[in-house]
Amino acid sequence: MPVTGLVNRIDWEPGSDLLRGTCHCGARRTCDGPVEMWAWLLAHPRGHGNDDLDG
Ligand SMILES: [Zn+2]
Repeated sequence: MPVTGLVNRIDWEPGSDLLRGTCHCGARRTCDGPVEMWAWLLAHPRGHGNDDLDG
């Protein structure tokens, strides 16, 4: 079935064990696990505004 609307992407960070996620809004973040990554993606407005990527 067709997927419409917003798309989130998760890729492996090359050369590391980190996951690199791209939110449908264009924000990007690296996490060390898919659970954390999906939590960040699904919490969309939170965590990628004024927060830095440290940690
Ligand atoms: Zn977002």
